[in-house]
Amino acid sequence: MNDFVALDICPYCNQPKGIAIHKNLKKLPQPCMTSPEPCDNCRASFVKAGVVPVWSTFIDDKGKLQFNNEYFFIRRETVRTTDLINMMNDYGFLVMKEEEFEKHKRNMETQKERIQA
Ligand SMILES: [Zn+2]
Repeated sequence: MNDFVALDICPYCNQPKGIAIHKNLKKLPQPCMTSPEPCDNCRASFVKAGVVPVWSTFIDDKGKLQFNNEYFFIRRETVRTTDLINMMNDYGFLVMKEEEFEKHKRNMETQKERIQA
């Protein structure tokens, strides 16, 4: 394979979900993760479990949406669309602004501590 072609890996199970080709034919990491979109198997298991992954994102200098390498799962029925950019129907995941993501993560940790106490 050429440098600009790589296996596109599912971020949840690390199985290949396709082939990635760099649009400007630049070198890609081998393998690479092009998006948080789950593979068909993971997508099916998330639907079955009633959960959806939420990814932390930011906008880069060029105004492009970028992903931080961090996510958590929330139950589908608790999704409040005001906090999220909704990509659930088409792509099987949701994204949240970095600041919102951190806020939610802290809330979840506080709830966990309360439950354990
Ligand atoms: Zn997968």
